[in-house]
Amino acid sequence: MFRERSVHIFQTKGSASLQKRLFLYFKLNQNNVNRTELNTIGEFGLIDRIAAKNQTQNSSTVKSIGDDCAVIDLGSEFLLVSTDSLVEGIHFDLTYVPLQHLGYKAVSVNVSDIAAMNGKAEQIVISNAISNRFSVEAIEALYEGILQACKDYKVDLVGGDTTGSRSGLVIGVTVIGRVAKDKVVYRSGAKPGDVVCVTGDLGGAYVGLQILEREKQVYLDNPSMQPQLEEYDFLVGKQLRPIARMDIIHEFKDKGILPSSMIDVSDGLASELLHIAKQSNVGMTIFEENLPIDNFTYETALEFKIGPTTCAMNGGEDYELLFTVSKEDYEKIKNHAEIYSIGQVEEAEKGLTLVSKKGQLHDIQAQGWNHFNK
Ligand code: ADP
Ligand code: MG
Repeated sequence: MFRERSVHIFQTKGSASLQKRLFLYFKLNQNNVNRTELNTIGEFGLIDRIAAKNQTQNSSTVKSIGDDCAVIDLGSEFLLVSTDSLVEGIHFDLTYVPLQHLGYKAVSVNVSDIAAMNGKAEQIVISNAISNRFSVEAIEALYEGILQACKDYKVDLVGGDTTGSRSGLVIGVTVIGRVAKDKVVYRSGAKPGDVVCVTGDLGGAYVGLQILEREKQVYLDNPSMQPQLEEYDFLVGKQLRPIARMDIIHEFKDKGILPSSMIDVSDGLASELLHIAKQSNVGMTIFEENLPIDNFTYETALEFKIGPTTCAMNGGEDYELLFTVSKEDYEKIKNHAEIYSIGQVEEAEKGLTLVSKKGQLHDIQAQGWNHFNK
């Protein structure tokens, strides 16, 4: 809740008793004084406001709010910490999301943030808020997926918290990882002249979501209809069960490559490009024709009358890695089947530009998800 004056009540050092202050707080809340709606500043605006007031006090805090993980100095190495929650009704709809897949995804999206720092995930803790709508079997199915992901990523589930919820399921995962001090990669290291690369293909998770939403509607209109999903396995899988690109991090190590900046694609390529550009104080030129969009994603996007490029730029949830590398390092990966060069880093004054297939120039703007509008 955003009630600035009520915050000041607690900061006031006066003679008023706590009881009087609480009464005032209660009254202000009733009257909605000085209320700023969350959707006017959005998720990133809110995080910026939190970060602006946050002062770290320990020299072991190397990187605080602002990157994919917090970075903590352990002496010989850096510890990486990140947390991401999946909330029913915001991130998933249990009409079509199997709980096993949901568990797997909750781990993947967290491991992906460790990958984005060039690190290795080792432990997770999980906090669940569960409504009594769920059975023991349902929660066991969720944990089947969680434990399968732990096995695949070689991560240990080491604790958590379980509590009740009145409004559905919330799965909060915190991941812990590590990275050698000279191998950590931030969002802030891109340099003019570097090559901009992205892994895998983009837009598939968003198109997969459109398919699931369509089949849900068909089912609701006529519950005797079977959902038609087989032919869309690839796209639906991208939405339901994303894989964190730890394989790429291992390859960087094997080939002796250190990206100059990196981020994982959770909110859409445009939003992630803007994060790197802002934090590295650079511009970028990106070529539409180089964006890796799978043929099937492309054709299905058109079926839905959505531009495939829009899906890649603004769809999100692909959990691929976006990174910049020096030209020398790029030479070592340029033939990699799943790494695509999509553009180049420029001086900040040049801004962020998408060059369309027809050669037209467009400013890149983020239209990522604003959860507060839902
Ligand atoms: P990602 O998409 O990589 O998970 P986010 O966009 O969620 O990253 O968060 C960006 C940065 O803001 C991260 O450093 C994250 O730890 C921090 N952050 C997000 N929400 C909060 C919050 N409520 N309080 C403090 N820091 C936050
Ligand atoms: Mg991230």
